[in-house]
Amino acid sequence: MIDAHVHIEFGEYAIEYIERMVDKAREKGITEIWVLDHTHKFLEFKPVYEIIRSDAFNRAWYDRKRPIPLADFLELASSVKKRSYPVTVKFGLEVCYFEEKEEELRGILREHDFDFLIGSVHFIDGFGFDLSRKNWEGKDVNRLYRRYYEITESLIKSGLFTALGHPDAIKLFEKYPDYPLADAYRRVAALLKERGMATENNSGLSRYGFPYPGLNPEFLRILKETGVVINRASDAHNIDDIGRMFERLEI
Ligand SMILES: [Zn+2]
Ligand SMILES: [Zn+2]
Repeated sequence: MIDAHVHIEFGEYAIEYIERMVDKAREKGITEIWVLDHTHKFLEFKPVYEIIRSDAFNRAWYDRKRPIPLADFLELASSVKKRSYPVTVKFGLEVCYFEEKEEELRGILREHDFDFLIGSVHFIDGFGFDLSRKNWEGKDVNRLYRRYYEITESLIKSGLFTALGHPDAIKLFEKYPDYPLADAYRRVAALLKERGMATENNSGLSRYGFPYPGLNPEFLRILKETGVVINRASDAHNIDDIGRMFERLEI
């Protein structure tokens, strides 16, 4: 069993920390972990986030991040790879995708080797939809969903990524459009299949109060029917959350 989305986030960039992750994975019956961090954590990606900084809320959010050199992550990955563990440990990034910054992202990503690259939509035209429930007040929910899935399609078509992260994270605050999403789900599933990309059934939202872990059941059914590779993912930001609620994640 794979946990395809495990952040170091608040942990240390040290072999010992990864070894604690391995121990937890073993305890949970997981045989492979995909260790990553967000691109906002790394200095190299700072220019990419310029696009959201015109908004004061986003700027305050980004300015709390204190980015570090990507080399710190890559060095840790290469030291871990020299050792052998009872759990396979892969290293990659969770890349924050912006349509307007695709070429800039391509330029940065092509300079490094990663085992995998997860592309995630976290911002819809500058709106950080998972950052605050309050920021949804007065928003056009239908328009946000349409754009969210358009941006998701651009992400897949970019060819930059091996997997799509948390494909329906926009539902976090339980705001839903008044039109059915099946067409959007089908388009995403077909594109993922066509491009040979995987996606994930991610239990992370339930840590932030979402009522059930993982994908919308209709989305999951469509992905499965289309034959898209789906990995279980905890989106752990702490070691204790590795493999969280996997017993409830169908793939
Ligand atoms: Zn994410
Ligand atoms: Zn994540």
